[in-house]
Amino acid sequence: MRLAEHPLARTTLPLLVAAAAVAVGYALSVGLAGYFVYLGVSAVVAAIALLGLGVVTGTAGMISLCQLTFAAVGAFVVCACNVAQVPGGFVTWLLLGGLAAALAGVLVGLPALRLRGITLAVVTLGLAAAADLTLVQIQFPGATEGLSVERPDAFSDDRSYFLFAVLVLVACGLVVYFLRRGRWGSSWHLVAFSERGTAAVGAGVRTSKLTAFAVSAALGGISGGLLTGQVGLAFPASFTAIQSLALYVLAIMSGAHLIDMAVFGALLWVAVPELLKRWGVPQDWGFVVFGVLGVQALTSRGNLGTAVRALRYRRRPAITAGLTDVAEVEPVPIGDPVLEVRGLSVSFGHVTALSDVDISVPEHGILGVIGPNGAGKSTLVDAISGFLPRATGTATLGGRPLTGSPTRRARSGLRRTFQQDRVPPGLTVGAYVRFVARRRLAGHEVADALEFFGCPGPRTPLSRVDAGARRLVEVVGHLLAKPRVLLLDEPAAGLPHEEHVAFGRRLRQVPARFGVSVLLIEHDLDLVRSVCDTLTVLDFGQVLASGPQADVLADPAVLKAYMGETELL
Ligand code: ADP
Ligand code: MG
Repeated sequence: MRLAEHPLARTTLPLLVAAAAVAVGYALSVGLAGYFVYLGVSAVVAAIALLGLGVVTGTAGMISLCQLTFAAVGAFVVCACNVAQVPGGFVTWLLLGGLAAALAGVLVGLPALRLRGITLAVVTLGLAAAADLTLVQIQFPGATEGLSVERPDAFSDDRSYFLFAVLVLVACGLVVYFLRRGRWGSSWHLVAFSERGTAAVGAGVRTSKLTAFAVSAALGGISGGLLTGQVGLAFPASFTAIQSLALYVLAIMSGAHLIDMAVFGALLWVAVPELLKRWGVPQDWGFVVFGVLGVQALTSRGNLGTAVRALRYRRRPAITAGLTDVAEVEPVPIGDPVLEVRGLSVSFGHVTALSDVDISVPEHGILGVIGPNGAGKSTLVDAISGFLPRATGTATLGGRPLTGSPTRRARSGLRRTFQQDRVPPGLTVGAYVRFVARRRLAGHEVADALEFFGCPGPRTPLSRVDAGARRLVEVVGHLLAKPRVLLLDEPAAGLPHEEHVAFGRRLRQVPARFGVSVLLIEHDLDLVRSVCDTLTVLDFGQVLASGPQADVLADPAVLKAYMGETELL
C-alpha cells in the first residue's frame, strides 16, 4: 500500500500540507518586499474566490458569473459591522460576511434549479451587473465618511495581515477539501454529471445544487471581507460584472476545482495585470488575455489542472471488469410479489410507448424483461422509478403505494440503473459506491461487493475505469443501498462476452447475497435463461407473455414474435 493510500494518510496528509502552507506563508510574510506582501494578499483573496468557483462550476458543473457579487456581500457586511462596531472584531465580521453571502448564494441558486447552461450564465451575469449598479448608488457603509475597517489586533500591519490572509485561505482550503470528500462533495460531482442519476440514488438534486451555491458564495463573501481588511475600504470598482466574468474564465482555465490550481489561478490573476502595468500596457488588456485563454480552455474541454493530473495516468490502459471466481451460495426461496405494477400506460405525443402493462417482481426473485428495441423496456423502468410523472397506472412496493418523485421512490426502497452511463468520472470507485449506497458501510463491505462483481478497487478513480466496468460499479452501489427492488436496464451491455456470462452468474446470487429482488432488462437470451425466474415479454409497448421462464419461452406467441431468432429454438 502506498503512503498516500493509507486511510490515516488521507486525513493526516492534508493537515501536513496545510501546516506546510502556513509555514510558507509565514516565511513569505517575513521575507517578501513590502509591495509584494500587498500583492500577496490580493492573490490570497483571489484564491479564496476561485476556490468557491471551483465548487460551483468545477465540481457541480453550474455556470456562476457573479462570484464578486458574493464578495461584495461579504465586504458590505464587514463594512457595516465596522461602522456599528459589532462585538467580536474582524474575524467575526468576516464569518458573518461569509454567512450572508451563503444566504445570497442560496437565493441565486434557486433559479439554478430550473435554469441550465447559457440561461444560467445570463441570469448570474445580469445579477452581477445589477448589483454593480446598485453598489455605486448606495455605496458601502462608512465609505462616504472614509471610515477605515479595523483589522484584527494581532494582524494589524501589512506583513502580519498577509499571514492572517494565508491562515484564512488554508482554513478555507481544508473545509473545501473535506467537504468535497463527504456527501455534499459526491453529490456535486454527481449532479454535474447527471441530474437523473442524482435523483436515482435518492439524493436531492435541489440540495446538491443549493449547497454548492451556498459554499461557493460563502467563500466569495470571505474573500470580499478579506479584501476590505486589506484596503481598509470597499469600492464598487473591485466587484464589477466584468471582473466576475474574468474570474470565472480563470477558474475554468486553471481548473479551480483542484485546490492547488485555484492558488495557481490566483497568482495569474495578480501577475497578469501587474506585468501589463510594468510594461506600460493599459490594464484592461488583462481581460482580453483572460478571455482568449478562457475560450481556449472552453473549446479544448480541458484545463491546466486536469492536464497536469492526466500526466500521472498517461498510457495506462483503462481498467476493465475482472473475471473472479465466486463461491456459490444457497439460493433463497422465491416469495410473493414485492413490486407490483398494474395498468401502466405511457405515451409520448402520438407514440404509445406502454399500454396497460402489468409487471410483478417476486420477492428474492429475478424478473427478466425482454423485447425488441423500442418495445418500451427503458420507458417501463423510467415510469416505475418516477421519472415519467405523466404515466398512468398503479404501482406498489412491499404492499405500499409507490408514488412521488424519483428521489422519494429511491428512498422508499426502489433503485434503478440507467442504460446510458451516469457514473461521474470525478470520483473514486469507493466514494461513488458509498454515495450511492447512502448508508454507513465498513471498508470490507465495499471491497467485498466490488470484488464479487470483478470491479476495480475502491481507490481507483472512475475516470480510469472502462465504461462497461463503470456500469457494474453503479450496480454495486445500488445493491449496497439494500433496496427492496433494483431495476437494471441492460447492465452488462458494455461488457465483452465472457464477462457478460460471468456477470450473469453473479447476478443469480444477488437475491441470496444482498437480499434484493431484481428486474432485469437484458437482450442476451442465454443470460435470461440462466438467470431469470420469471419473464415478461414486451412488444410494441404491450405484454406479449408473462410468467415462469420456461412457460414464456415456450409460448407460441413469443416464438412467433421471435421467429428467426435461433437462440430461442
Ligand atoms: P426499449 O428500451 O425497449 O428499446 P424505449 O422504452 O427506449 O424502448 O422506447 C419505447 C418507445 O418510446 C420508442 O418508440 C421510443 O422511440 C419512444 N420514446 C422513448 N422515450 C421517448 C421520449 N422521451 N420522447 C418520445 N418518444 C420516446
Ligand atoms: Mg432501452
